[in-house]
Amino acid sequence: MLPLSLSSAILALRQGRLSSRELTQACLDRCQALEPALHAFLTLSPELALAQADQADRRLVEWRKDPSQPLPPLLGAPLAIKDVICVKDVRCTCGSRILENFIPPYHATVVERLLAAGCVIVGKTNTDEFAMGSSTENSAYGVTHNPWDLTRVPGGSSGGSAAAVAAGCALAALGSDTGGSVRQPAAFCGVVGLKPTYGRVSRFGLVAYGSSLDAIGPLARTVEDAAALFEVIAGHDPLDATTMPVPRPALQLDGRLPARLRIGLPQEYFIAGLHPAVEAAVRAAIQVFEQLGAEVLPVSLPHTSYALPVYYLIAPAEASANLARYDGIRYGARAASPSSGGEALLDLFCRTRGEKFGAEVKRRIMLGTYALSAGYYEAYYGQAQKARTLIKQDFERAFEQVDVIAAPVTPTPAFKIGEHTDDPLAMYLEDVFTLPANLAGAPGIAFPVGFADGLPVGMQLMGPHFGEAVLLQAAHAYQQATSWHHSMPDVGKTLL
Ligand code: GLN
Repeated sequence: MLPLSLSSAILALRQGRLSSRELTQACLDRCQALEPALHAFLTLSPELALAQADQADRRLVEWRKDPSQPLPPLLGAPLAIKDVICVKDVRCTCGSRILENFIPPYHATVVERLLAAGCVIVGKTNTDEFAMGSSTENSAYGVTHNPWDLTRVPGGSSGGSAAAVAAGCALAALGSDTGGSVRQPAAFCGVVGLKPTYGRVSRFGLVAYGSSLDAIGPLARTVEDAAALFEVIAGHDPLDATTMPVPRPALQLDGRLPARLRIGLPQEYFIAGLHPAVEAAVRAAIQVFEQLGAEVLPVSLPHTSYALPVYYLIAPAEASANLARYDGIRYGARAASPSSGGEALLDLFCRTRGEKFGAEVKRRIMLGTYALSAGYYEAYYGQAQKARTLIKQDFERAFEQVDVIAAPVTPTPAFKIGEHTDDPLAMYLEDVFTLPANLAGAPGIAFPVGFADGLPVGMQLMGPHFGEAVLLQAAHAYQQATSWHHSMPDVGKTLL
């Protein structure tokens, strides 16, 4: 019997009811059994995982002899890592052919910290190519299926991580969120996803997409579990100059709402196009918060409608610069080039990039390069930066009146595989509610609040910079009062 939550697994390990090897093997078996249906993983790492599990078991045996020693907080717990985050000696593809053979020679700082906390890594999860997408359909290695309905997407770009956690293949996972890629798949798969404040978690070893937006965050079945991962990965890192030397948050997960919590409801997020069942679930959840003692107030984030065009200028602009390094020489795959001499180099770049990047990545490189080009820079990139400041100021003003902002995560529940593939704009619209937090650098947490036509619906709480503790405490209190997070898709149940 596989314990489903990270916290219950850690308890079982400490009490000796389960060994990390048994738990890890059970997760690996489950990953393998579900892989044909879900395709949540790009690489499984069974040898590494079992070696880490054995090491954890040895430590647990020692500890039982002398339980006064402190134990690493996540000792023996099997996790999955999105395939844009480097795990030393394990292939890291970023869902791209251009990195099909890339084996990182070092760990990302977050991985380093998870391993120091005792985790076991079962594998690397599927993602849209370079995290560009909202469905995992842009992965060069095939789509991940939503465990709640295999004909639907799991969301993206951390869709593999969300599907793996929802189906119980790993107890929790890491994803990355540049415009919603942790929160949106969490909502589509009925799990919890936290996007921390920009600067809270090191991105050293995260393959860069949009450097002013990228954040690494946990996906887990419960808020408590997401908080446990967050506590481990958060903190200043000399290897990422954007991380801030702010103290770790003191998390108080006692099932109570923060005292006198004021929740803001932004009118701009409850708009036409929002699926009625999604709106109903979110409004019902807000009532629960009211019953728990929160005060709910209307707020306005007047520049919300700029978030989509601003994001789709800034993110591609940064991506076009970040992806310039994939030239066939230094990393990963290289195309064959028949030319020689000086021209051969240019030919090699063009062929490698032409053959190995997928359509969406090329689209973004072209959009971004255009937005940055001489003569257009001020009109596009410069304007976008100004509008971004207005969006950030909207949040600052709102947080003078309220402690957190509540909103839907996505306008609809998970859509069908293929439904938006011919229409990039329809796909981009999926991100309307998640992009603003990235543009503002603010933290956001998504957690399940119901179902629409049998598909999970998520809700989002956003907070002021470095306000994760309030978000986690509030979402945890909600979960203590409700049971949506106990739901499990049938595909996962069959193997329990
Ligand atoms: N869906 C958004 C995009 O396509 C966000 C992706 C992300 O957060 N990595 O860019």
